[in-house]
Amino acid sequence: MEKKKIKEIEKIISKELNETLISINEYKELTKPISPENSIGRVSRMDAINNRAVMEESLRKLEIKYKKLQFIKTQTQKEDFGMCIKCKNEIPVGRIMIIPESRFCVKCV
Ligand SMILES: [Zn+2]
Repeated sequence: MEKKKIKEIEKIISKELNETLISINEYKELTKPISPENSIGRVSRMDAINNRAVMEESLRKLEIKYKKLQFIKTQTQKEDFGMCIKCKNEIPVGRIMIIPESRFCVKCV
């Protein structure tokens, strides 16, 4: 892959990492334990617990994405960067731009 393309992709990865980290911190704030002395009613409390489960799931997904991005960041200088790990064809740059954490080409997903 061209050096110029790699540089461009590295920039996008860094940006994605920053944005993902911001989201992770936001979700962490939102999924803080609900204190029992909270004066919200029983029904709202149930709602809060349900919402928290949804948010915890989102947080988990974000953390996985973050780990993948961190990993891919260590791969950009490698010779096989941008190659599908299954069929070894080059992954189109457009795809890496949209889903930089993807390690497969469109066919192998
Ligand atoms: Zn492939």
